[in-house]
Amino acid sequence: MTDILNNRAAPRTLFVSSQPFEGERIAAAAIYCSDGRWGEQMDEFLQVGLGLPRYDRVAIPGGAACLAGHMKGFHEKLSLEAQLSFLIKEHGLHKIVLIAHEGCAYYKDVWTGSQSVIEQQAEDLKRAAQHIEFCNKGLEISSYFARKVDGKVAFEPWSNHQP
Ligand SMILES: [Zn+2]
Repeated sequence: MTDILNNRAAPRTLFVSSQPFEGERIAAAAIYCSDGRWGEQMDEFLQVGLGLPRYDRVAIPGGAACLAGHMKGFHEKLSLEAQLSFLIKEHGLHKIVLIAHEGCAYYKDVWTGSQSVIEQQAEDLKRAAQHIEFCNKGLEISSYFARKVDGKVAFEPWSNHQP
């Protein structure tokens, strides 16, 4: 208890991260798929590629796809709306980044009609961005697509909305 009060590692500490804690918020969040195979690359893209260290992570299966209005995403949509609303209010978000990825398992049972899955993903991110913008005025929202290229992960811009 004394160690906890003194802000030191307690005797039972299992692990101490090499990363120092920095208290300043960056006022940005990213919504992307939970798929852990893409996690490190998402982190690097957001922190290095977009210059957003310490961004808030909102990782759920399919990322922002549930905001596009698919029947299968009804409950996830309500949950994600509540999570976003909390972060916008409590963490003072100004910027939201949406990232879809190639081969996303979320789309296995999503009816895409005559469109390819990637076309459906592009449409979904556009709809998701419009939905977030409609519910929360004044946010900067940008969308990206992550795909495998030569054994690595490349990110391409899909759209950018400035308030
Ligand atoms: Zn996925």
